[in-house]
Amino acid sequence: MNAANDATAADAELLALDARHVWHPYAPMPSTVAPLLVREASGACLRLADGRELVDGMSSWWAAVHGYRHPVLDAALAEQAGRMSHVMFGGLTHEPAIRLASTLAELTPDGLEHVFLSDSGSVSVEVALKMCLQYWRSRGEPAKRRMLTWRGGYHGDTFHPMSVCDPEGGMHALWRGVLPEQIFVPAPPSGFDTEPDQSYVDELAASVERNAGELAAVVVEPIVQGAGGMRFHHPGYLRALREITSANDVLLVFDEIATGFGRTGALFAAEHAGVTPDVLCLGKALTGGYLTMAATLCTPRVAEGISEGAVPVLAHGPTFMGNPLAAAVANASIGLLADGSWLPRVRRIEALLREGLAPAAGVPGVVDVRVLGAIGVVQLDRHVDMGEATRVLTANGVWLRPFRDLLYTMPPYVCTDGQVEQITAAMVKTTREV
Ligand code: PMP
Repeated sequence: MNAANDATAADAELLALDARHVWHPYAPMPSTVAPLLVREASGACLRLADGRELVDGMSSWWAAVHGYRHPVLDAALAEQAGRMSHVMFGGLTHEPAIRLASTLAELTPDGLEHVFLSDSGSVSVEVALKMCLQYWRSRGEPAKRRMLTWRGGYHGDTFHPMSVCDPEGGMHALWRGVLPEQIFVPAPPSGFDTEPDQSYVDELAASVERNAGELAAVVVEPIVQGAGGMRFHHPGYLRALREITSANDVLLVFDEIATGFGRTGALFAAEHAGVTPDVLCLGKALTGGYLTMAATLCTPRVAEGISEGAVPVLAHGPTFMGNPLAAAVANASIGLLADGSWLPRVRRIEALLREGLAPAAGVPGVVDVRVLGAIGVVQLDRHVDMGEATRVLTANGVWLRPFRDLLYTMPPYVCTDGQVEQITAAMVKTTREV
């Protein structure tokens, strides 16, 4: 046997072990679909064990905005690893986390001052919801304990975030009886450029007003509802929500775990509306996708409300909170965004996505094609056959992960024009062939 055969045999053995032992997301165990074995990645490309190279049109689920093996991020990580990889955050602190928190307070919408660093998006939403509940308990209003949210949302897979995910998304039926029961209202009419519908806003206001006595917060993904359906809405709905929640003494939480760090064409999606939520969740691209870290920011009002209560501390403290490696690479990633060059790049990707995906609009079975910032979506009239779609996409050198009736991309900002064109061409071809 030669070396190539040995490598192939070793990879086949790895995949057999994967099938037997490794539980993948949203997958049965034992696995029924073989994943692709990735050996390494650089720039916007994933290199598979079998030698194929795929452009990562997913940015590893919105996260790898600067692509892979970015020299600045690699160097920041190596430098921090040479000092301290981890240290507990209770009673101790360190420069990477201090710099990160102060930078986030500066960059995010005015008024968000305090930063709780955690280790995943779901946990940052847990912390956000806990902050809101504790705020009202501390203020002597424990009846304010429910969340109001839009249908079609996605906020994570742990219990409290799951309770505000789309109730039609499959999770709610399974978990009925054990999930906190929240209040769902319709999502805003679709379209970033579609002027707000006043009757929708009036109904939204009426729902918040009617439930205000038991509402802790309204929780939404601003501008883009991601994993719940990849729908965009007009910033006017966020301005309306800010007014409605303030008028009714209800907190407002924005989950920008997917939209944060430039994806929609603004550094944070809240900027499209010019509003500040009471609590903001960030994750994914926070570290440029290098390490697992998330952040929950809040205003002094929320922090003081909690600190003035009978239990004056926020009762949360993950082991890997403020991890120095993650904080150092987050600082470097934000540093790469600091010169603003991401914006013309996202605008250029937006133009290429519009142009490249336009032909999909004429394909039978395609019901909508929509683009915002570095996000491109093709919606079909039926569920995409994931296996078939993956076969066509990978044969055309592209990695995407369609779900339900959606074929979508959010490429790394470092994608070349040619790579974006490769993604859109593969998407159009997929709509024709699958
Ligand atoms: N909120 C939103 C808007 C998300 O897109 C996600 C991840 N898809 C989460 C929360 C959960 O983040 P994580 O997967 O890091 O727990």
